[in-house]
Amino acid sequence: MTTAEILSQAREEKRTVLTEIEAKQILGEAGINCTRTVLAASREEAVSISEEIGYPVVLKVSSVDITHKSDSGGVKVNLPDKAAVEKAYDEIMTSCRAYAPGADIEGVSVQGMAKAGIEIIMGMIRDASFGPVVMFGLGGVLVEVLKDVSFRIVPIDNNDAVDMTSEIQGKKLLEGYRGQESADVPCLQEMLVKLSDFVNDTPGIEEIDMNPVFAYSDGAVVVDARIILSSERVNF
Ligand code: ADP
Ligand code: MG
Repeated sequence: MTTAEILSQAREEKRTVLTEIEAKQILGEAGINCTRTVLAASREEAVSISEEIGYPVVLKVSSVDITHKSDSGGVKVNLPDKAAVEKAYDEIMTSCRAYAPGADIEGVSVQGMAKAGIEIIMGMIRDASFGPVVMFGLGGVLVEVLKDVSFRIVPIDNNDAVDMTSEIQGKKLLEGYRGQESADVPCLQEMLVKLSDFVNDTPGIEEIDMNPVFAYSDGAVVVDARIILSSERVNF
């Protein structure tokens, strides 16, 4: 489905939450690299899609009612084969039904297992006085504990993106701290500009959360994404 189709379908269903699959589809259309992510509505489908994508894979619950998927036992990573996928599918369903009894669960998303990289977060929130702002920071503990993030008002250009990646306290980690792989910072800057362009061109987006993005020495990939639509009516 195209971005326009996804947005109008969500509006028709009177929902403001998009699934991870929908969010990655939209971000992909905006030129942002995301892990390939496909919906499976049954255990059998989860296996056949895993086989097509290639092991190891990741399975995650797909439900508009469950936005924090790990909290509900809805994420199983690094599944090496068919048996592991079947077991993970059953465990996700059991655990998510217990965690959120009324939730409308459409199935699981099957995605390729991304290799480990430097964890980044990017996103967009609406500020009451400034309107949409984009956000950049290091992921994991650094963002949760230190709130090491930078913000800019939309729209941003490449110079703003360069400032954003330079401003964070932990920027040394992007440069390959203590022999670790460095991050492809120009690629991250390009992603920030694309995110800003998308937000600027698309009315009715309330919030975007790309957490985590894995950054490598060559490229970067969005591993999880959430998009919330504004609740007031917008005509697309
Ligand atoms: P949540 O809704 O709880 O934020 P995530 O989709 O972020 O769920 O998954 C939780 C964690 O699992 C991520 O932070 C990441 O470390 C890992 N993970 C998720 N998807 C993938 C993937 N496709 N490849 C590798 N690791 C992944
Ligand atoms: Mg996440």
